[in-house]
Amino acid sequence: MHCFPVYEFHDINAENFADIEGILKEYGGDKKWNLMIIPFNEGVQPSVLKAFSQQLLEWKMEGHSLYLHGYRHKADKILKRSLLGRLALSLTNCESEFAGLSKEDSKMLLTKALQEWQKLNAGEPQGFVPPAWYGSRMLFYLCKDLGFENYNSRFTLWNKSKGSRFSVPFSTAGLPRPAIPIVNLCEKIYLKIYKIFNFLPMMRIVKHPAEGSKCPH
Ligand SMILES: [Zn+2]
Repeated sequence: MHCFPVYEFHDINAENFADIEGILKEYGGDKKWNLMIIPFNEGVQPSVLKAFSQQLLEWKMEGHSLYLHGYRHKADKILKRSLLGRLALSLTNCESEFAGLSKEDSKMLLTKALQEWQKLNAGEPQGFVPPAWYGSRMLFYLCKDLGFENYNSRFTLWNKSKGSRFSVPFSTAGLPRPAIPIVNLCEKIYLKIYKIFNFLPMMRIVKHPAEGSKCPH
């Protein structure tokens, strides 16, 4: 039975982590979040990196899960991409850094992401989520081979022991302002029926830093 939604907080990095801590507190201390961490830390002051690392460990101790969320969360335009990959870049303001890459380049980017992650001293990531959810079967298998326990795409949650589950993410990121109340209303309605009908796809409540700290629940 899955009556409780999965809570995801995206795009946490060395620059914004202090604000995120405040926002998580506003959502209430009872929720356990999957925190999507962007590991790129070039140019970050050592003292800031240390504080970020400390915060990650604290979140872990509080029961939240830390996920690796890409490398820079910004596409390297020099890399060769498929036509669909280039389209994904234009749809996501170049955030979908894994979209349309070859297997070799995907592997190279994943390796760089893991190298940056190691510098955070926060233990192993509990899963991988490609930026803007633009991944592929190939990227999924690469992550599986690297030993990740979890891999999320836009509509599926994969876990090493539980397998794949269909899911519906509720996110207002990047939406035009008039659409936001509609999504928030759909989220409220789905949350109500989701608690009654346990056969429904897993509900995911997805938040981003730019959405501010307004808690809808
Ligand atoms: Zn993201």
